[in-house]
Amino acid sequence: MKNMRVKFKSYWIRGDIVKTVVYCSGCSKEFTVKNMPLTCNCGGILSLKRDSELCADRFVCPEEWSMFRYRNFLPLDSIGNAWQDITLGEGMTPVIEYGDALANLKVKMDYMMPTLSFKDRGASLLIALAKNLGIKEVVQDSSGNAGTAVAAYAARAGIKCSIFVPAGNSRKKIQQIFAHGAKVYEIEGSREDTAAAALKKVLNENLFYASHVYNPFFYEGTKTYVFELYEQLQGELPDCIWVPVGNGTLLLGCYYGLLDLMTAGLITRMPKLIAVQSNNCAPIFNAFHSGNDMVEPFQGRKTLAEGIAIADPKRGRLILQAIRDLDGDVLAVEEDAIRKAAARLAADGFYFETTTAATFAAYFDNPRYHNTASVVPACGAGIKSSIV
Ligand SMILES: *Cc1c(COP(=O)(O)O)cnc(C)c1O
Ligand SMILES: [Zn+2]
Repeated sequence: MKNMRVKFKSYWIRGDIVKTVVYCSGCSKEFTVKNMPLTCNCGGILSLKRDSELCADRFVCPEEWSMFRYRNFLPLDSIGNAWQDITLGEGMTPVIEYGDALANLKVKMDYMMPTLSFKDRGASLLIALAKNLGIKEVVQDSSGNAGTAVAAYAARAGIKCSIFVPAGNSRKKIQQIFAHGAKVYEIEGSREDTAAAALKKVLNENLFYASHVYNPFFYEGTKTYVFELYEQLQGELPDCIWVPVGNGTLLLGCYYGLLDLMTAGLITRMPKLIAVQSNNCAPIFNAFHSGNDMVEPFQGRKTLAEGIAIADPKRGRLILQAIRDLDGDVLAVEEDAIRKAAARLAADGFYFETTTAATFAAYFDNPRYHNTASVVPACGAGIKSSIV
């Protein structure tokens, strides 16, 4: 299999604040944050790079008890002070030992968040950006958690919000979105049909698409997952960082965050990223194990892991590159394994959402990883959607 080494970017000092440049991941064309299109003319998806130094000694602002304690590693030039108005204390989630039976497994309790999923990391940063840009109305589409997070922060920012969700999604998530005053559109058909409907509203009405897929600022927020791990584990990152993968917002955030830690000289060795998908919707799994660089859309069947049921991940190529660059792996789990994992977790005192049970199912059922230090994220709360 081809191992695509991604070179670290070169950095140089220019003032105190980290400067961010938006560019096309297809043709490298650059854009200003204010005039950032949804995608490049070439069809390429937009990414971010920095053109300033990251200083290790500025990594943590210890007086701030939210993920914005890492703001010197976040795109402050784009979000300004807007984060101060909207923060709900997101981040700072505990890292705990799973328990005696699995001695090398730690769990990052990332559902301990204002809206009960890790999506608050990306949504808080993205809505801070929208607020700083003076945006009055945003649109988002989601299977639930990203929509909930965007709705909550938009409410806090005083920004009007429309969320598109697939019909038949967990009622709890839809209720939560609705409670924040967002307009909810339930769309029949696939997850992709929901995205298409949101996109249509964005284009027709020229609105800000607060998308966790298209907007690269979401991934700046999810970087804080590994920043926290680094601080909480006193610089000793585990050998394996496990991540569920649908659109790859946590996976890419982890990857970019790790690159930042390396660039700043805080780490010298990279962990592996172990990505987890459901067998019923496994486009990344298929591409990875076929040695492909591009991801083919998957003819998805329904899965209990609704949070990772993404048949056509728009950042697929970047996700594959990230996993291969860090010599990682992609695993896929059966529905029955998800059910068993959910029951085992509950028996061990954990009440997580079903998509999170899928990540744990991959860990439980792959003992070849049990001799090495791992952190598995609990991305969503069981109270939103659970089969146990
Ligand atoms: C969004 C979500 C995922 C998947 O994240 P991606 O960014 O789509 O890869 C996994 N678990 C939960 C609970 C989620 O909300
Ligand atoms: Zn381009």
